Amino acid sequence: MEPTPLYIDGAFVAPVSGASFEAIDPATEEVFAHVGAGAAADIDAAVRAARRAFDTGGWPATPATERARILRQIAEGIRARADEIALIEVRDNGKPLPEAKWDVGDAAFCFDYYADMAEAFEAKGDTAVDVGDARFDASIRREPLGVVGAITPWNYPLLMAVWKVAPALAAGCSIVLKPSELCSLSCVELARIIDATDLPKGVFNLVTGTGPDAGAPLSEHPMVDKVAFTGSVPTGSKVMTAAARDIRTVSLELGGKSPFIVFADSDIEKAVEWIMFGIFWNQGQVCSATSRVLVERAAYAPLLDRLAEEARKITVGRGTDEGILLGPIVSKGQYDKVMAAIARGTKDGARLVTGGARPQHLNHGYFVEPTVFADVPAGAWIWKEEIFGPVVCVAPFDTEGDAIREANDSRYGLAAAVMSDDLDRCERVAGAMRAGIVWVNCSQPTFAQLPWGGYKASGIGRELGEAGYLAFTETKQITRFDKDETWGWYIKGA
Ligand code: NAD
Repeated sequence: MEPTPLYIDGAFVAPVSGASFEAIDPATEEVFAHVGAGAAADIDAAVRAARRAFDTGGWPATPATERARILRQIAEGIRARADEIALIEVRDNGKPLPEAKWDVGDAAFCFDYYADMAEAFEAKGDTAVDVGDARFDASIRREPLGVVGAITPWNYPLLMAVWKVAPALAAGCSIVLKPSELCSLSCVELARIIDATDLPKGVFNLVTGTGPDAGAPLSEHPMVDKVAFTGSVPTGSKVMTAAARDIRTVSLELGGKSPFIVFADSDIEKAVEWIMFGIFWNQGQVCSATSRVLVERAAYAPLLDRLAEEARKITVGRGTDEGILLGPIVSKGQYDKVMAAIARGTKDGARLVTGGARPQHLNHGYFVEPTVFADVPAGAWIWKEEIFGPVVCVAPFDTEGDAIREANDSRYGLAAAVMSDDLDRCERVAGAMRAGIVWVNCSQPTFAQLPWGGYKASGIGRELGEAGYLAFTETKQITRFDKDETWGWYIKGA
């Protein structure tokens, strides 16, 4: 099998070292592709290409209508190959095919959305500011930020990359993308799609490779103006440390341990549906996953019964098989971590209500049953730390104040959800949550039009929405003094 190439300066190339690594289908544990293993020399070539494209290639000064036209070409290219890319994503990541199709559709939409935004910002022009002195005419301008290094995770391999690539290109930046070594293939397809558009060479570059060999040199490269990172807290910290050395901008989208507060006046069926959507979608490998559920004591037992009953009905299997709702965990390493977390939960005194093992009918693949823990002690490791698997922790609460305190008692602050028939109470709780995303009477629906990101250790900055576009711009003030006026502080008449 020929390894997939890197994409540097408008050309598909092999890594300088000629090295590659294996892509493993998590449903079968079989190697199905080889991926080019880029390293420091490839990153350097890609960053230099992006630097040239930005500094002298004309992309930042390209009219927004032209940038938007090319972004729409990319959206169209994704749509034209949507089924094929979704199948690649399933093979690489394991997720059920309908979920992969959803991701690919979202990726195409994201390019269209930021194409519109580029045009809207250019049409709006500079923002005039009244500085309170009629001799001055001041305005604020947004300019493309520069060369972006994007480092992305494996849970939504294409979509997490697109959340960075689309707004960065829309804003006039050039970019070097380094996807996760666990799932690189859909990003290689993105490079092929981009190659077929009119995007000037060097504006988009792809270097596949491992974190230490390719991610680290990208985050440390002195010619990179901004590193946009999505991944774990420890790696995010390394990226930020590297950025501090040269005073580089970073955005960090990190982990979470997101609470869902269910009041007893809620419709239990709806609560169970949203909890399941929150923790079993994508095998629970979602940064904002509904991993801690707090249920008002009066509804606790009936909700747990229904949740366990429905969790047991979930069809687990290969993502391409008809009717599958839960695929395998992405890799052996992640599978082992999830299993270790489950063992730890039981040891720490949580009650295993259902799941916790490999499904009996599946001998191969990194499959884990949908797992529900109840009566989870607040100090337990599984209550505090991100498991990144189909494992939900449930605990009771007595008062609204207790629920808010317990929900906020986390080093993370990515998302939170609240469910109640009493909408005033929902608004109160939503306002009290220390989280960047709060869902009311639902959990997880995500829209490109809304800002995405976390408080506390869940990250810095926002992706998506207008914030996600502005994150790839610099802000410039231009202050003009009336040439016919006199300043006259030192020299009268000057
Ligand atoms: P990870 O930190 O292991 O890897 C993320 C990326 O960083 C990969 O591309 C990896 O190769 C690279 N990397 C690893 N070491 C590096 C280094 N020293 N320098 C530079 N880059 C390096 O995370 P993961 O396991 O791929 O993803 C799971 C994590 O991502 C979870 O914690 C999850 O919550 C988080 N996540 C967050 C969001 C969000 O929007 N907040 C979205 C998806 C995933």
